[in-house]
Amino acid sequence: MDSPTIKILLVEDNPADADLLSEFLEEADETQWSLVHVEKLKEALQTLRENHFDVILLDLSLPDKQGLATVVQTHETAPDLPIVVLTGLNDRVTALDAVRQGAQDYLVKGKIDSNLLVRAIGYAIERSNTLKQLRQSEEQLQRLNEELEHRVKEQTEELRDKNRCLQSEITERQRLEEELRNALMKEKELSDLKSNIISVVSHEYRTPLATILSSTELLENYSHKWDQEKRQRHFKRIENSVHHLTQLVNDVLIISKAEAGKLDFNPVPLELVEFCYQLVEELQLTASTQHNISFLCQTSSIKACLDEKLLRQFLTNLLSNAIKYSPHGGNVQLELECKQDVTIFRIRDQGIGIPLKDQDQLFEAFHRSSNVGTISGTGLGLAIVKKCVDIHNGQIAVESEVGTGTTFIITIPLICQVTEQLAESNSQSVY
Ligand code: ATP
Ligand code: MG
Repeated sequence: MDSPTIKILLVEDNPADADLLSEFLEEADETQWSLVHVEKLKEALQTLRENHFDVILLDLSLPDKQGLATVVQTHETAPDLPIVVLTGLNDRVTALDAVRQGAQDYLVKGKIDSNLLVRAIGYAIERSNTLKQLRQSEEQLQRLNEELEHRVKEQTEELRDKNRCLQSEITERQRLEEELRNALMKEKELSDLKSNIISVVSHEYRTPLATILSSTELLENYSHKWDQEKRQRHFKRIENSVHHLTQLVNDVLIISKAEAGKLDFNPVPLELVEFCYQLVEELQLTASTQHNISFLCQTSSIKACLDEKLLRQFLTNLLSNAIKYSPHGGNVQLELECKQDVTIFRIRDQGIGIPLKDQDQLFEAFHRSSNVGTISGTGLGLAIVKKCVDIHNGQIAVESEVGTGTTFIITIPLICQVTEQLAESNSQSVY
């Protein structure tokens, strides 16, 4: 098979040198050559733009360009074309520079023969092809590398997304677990409360029921023998027992409603000074003469939005406690104050006080302090107070010393209006 024709562009301004090279090529008859000869670089570049060549033989000293610049411009125009530089005898350094700038080889004029020329051309083409392949491999490698990087990025992003999903699933699961735990805890509290209610109520019910039973039996059998006063005493005992039972049922109802989150809450604008004054009067009527119940407020009118029933409930419970736990009588005081946007109720007594160790559990249902002695109670009152205050978004604090007395402080954050401030802020009105 014939070897393919090698297309050569010869850029040489010296006709003698050009002829000589052409002759050398003709001598090498095992290869087919086609030679295009130009004398100037400008022509060479134009020819390169318009035609395909396999190799260029480039003289470094042309009429329109000399030295390395010739190689640089040729290489820029045809980057893939192998260049064999033709130099003079004393120009080896420039020739080597030319190789560094992209030429494949150089030939020293006057030392060229046919074999050398053919070999230089062959090697130049080979080297250029190898370089091209190397470049292509590099480019392919680069592409693969970029593809790989891209894939790694995509997978990392995918993994990150999955991780995020997993994380939010874990958080959601933890939230649900927490909710479940809380629900179970609430369930347990409710069930504890129920069993407590059953045991306390059944126990607490016995005494008044026994009283009612004995009084009704006595009335049935002996009322005809008794005078009016004795009969009346037994009716009163029955009435008190019924009141006590009703109170017990009401307390249990409120507590279980509050625990189930079903406590009615209807805040309405109330005139608190008037309300407290009346409540204190009512309690004074039923309290013993040993107790002096007073109401203290520095303003004559405080309007605030509260649930009247719940307000009555918690104030009555606290004032009843203050009276009950002052067995030797003394002063019981309800103090009302309106500060910026909070209403403050203080209930003070001079009673038995609450031991420090009992103060933490004070608002737990059925908890009674260790110093109550024979004073009766179920331990529901303060739990109810707490529910009533909580629903108003309020807070309770207690200051107490055994043997000295107790103060409960209720703060309810409500926008209240002091319609009439007394002229002298330190003058106190006692009702
Ligand atoms: P009841 O359900 O009939 O009100 P109780 O008075 O025992 O029964 P709470 O009102 O809840 O129950 O009070 C809980 C406990 O706190 C009381 O048993 C008592 O030991 C203590 N306590 C409450 N108020 C006072 C007070 N003002 N002084 C001293 N101890 C008090
Ligand atoms: Mg009580």
